[in-house]
Amino acid sequence: MNKQIRAFAEKILTGQLLDRDEIVALSKLSGDYFDDLLYWANEIRKANFGNKIKMCSIVPGRLGGCSQDCAFCAQSLHYDTAVDKTPKTLSDDEIMVAAKEAKKKGVPNFGIVYSGRKVGDEELDRLIALTKQIKEEMGLGVCMSLGILSDENMQRLADAGVVRFNHNLETSARHFPDIVSTHKYEDRVKTIEAGLKAGMGVCAGGIFGIGETENDRIDMALELRRLGVDMVPMNFLHPIAGTPLGKAEKLSPREILRIVALYRFILPSTHLKVAGGRVLNLRDVQSWIFYAGCTAILSGNYLTTAGRSVEDDLQMLADLGLEAV
Ligand code: SF4
Repeated sequence: MNKQIRAFAEKILTGQLLDRDEIVALSKLSGDYFDDLLYWANEIRKANFGNKIKMCSIVPGRLGGCSQDCAFCAQSLHYDTAVDKTPKTLSDDEIMVAAKEAKKKGVPNFGIVYSGRKVGDEELDRLIALTKQIKEEMGLGVCMSLGILSDENMQRLADAGVVRFNHNLETSARHFPDIVSTHKYEDRVKTIEAGLKAGMGVCAGGIFGIGETENDRIDMALELRRLGVDMVPMNFLHPIAGTPLGKAEKLSPREILRIVALYRFILPSTHLKVAGGRVLNLRDVQSWIFYAGCTAILSGNYLTTAGRSVEDDLQMLADLGLEAV
């Protein structure tokens, strides 16, 4: 057992946080002492979250036709991908059917995700009415991902009972301009701050395997820690043909587990949600994510790629003695 990793873990288990120098030292050790890193990440997870795993599923409320140019995204109008260039917006009925399906399958949290930079006022009114209806009729926790929102509109969502707003940083401030040119990193930070100010939970994380360095990963984690988000989605690139990252090399399963475990040390009491790329990249070792410190999963299909069935994920959690909440 590596003594330094143990000392870092024990510091965290007494309620303290690692500083940047300590995180860099841990990152340097993490390749050689992979097993130790995972062992302690699991101990930190259990100390802070017990056996509970948050589970959510999402529906693409609006799919495709996005004016933004995020280099990994199938929905961007800037790239020639299999996703239709004309955005498709789901009707009220289609969203309610998806919510009922989530409820029937036993998924406690339901997210509505929109492509695009922002949503208009009328669309926001419709989504607020739908949130109230889903909560009243099904008792599901409703989350939203709607792009950039003003303080006022964020407050309207919070008042309507939206549990959590998703808006990712995607990567570090340094690497962001290599990935997106149509909006700024600061726009994303402001939207996250607006969600927090409105009193909602904020789900903000990023995507890995997009050419970022280890320092970029650490910087993003520290920025998320500074902002105080309560859920960090961790997506792992599934290269989409036609996008600038369409031929990028996929991260190995061990590297993904190492990144999740490193994040558990940096963000000990924040939910870490392994989301996009879980099935494709982790294959048979996906149940190890919990041992690496993951406390939440996105189940069912992703926005533009197929995921795994909710039934299979619930079975995996039950087999591991974990409880979906
Ligand atoms: S990640 Fe979101 S904002 Fe970026 S291109 Fe895709 S849909 Fe648009």
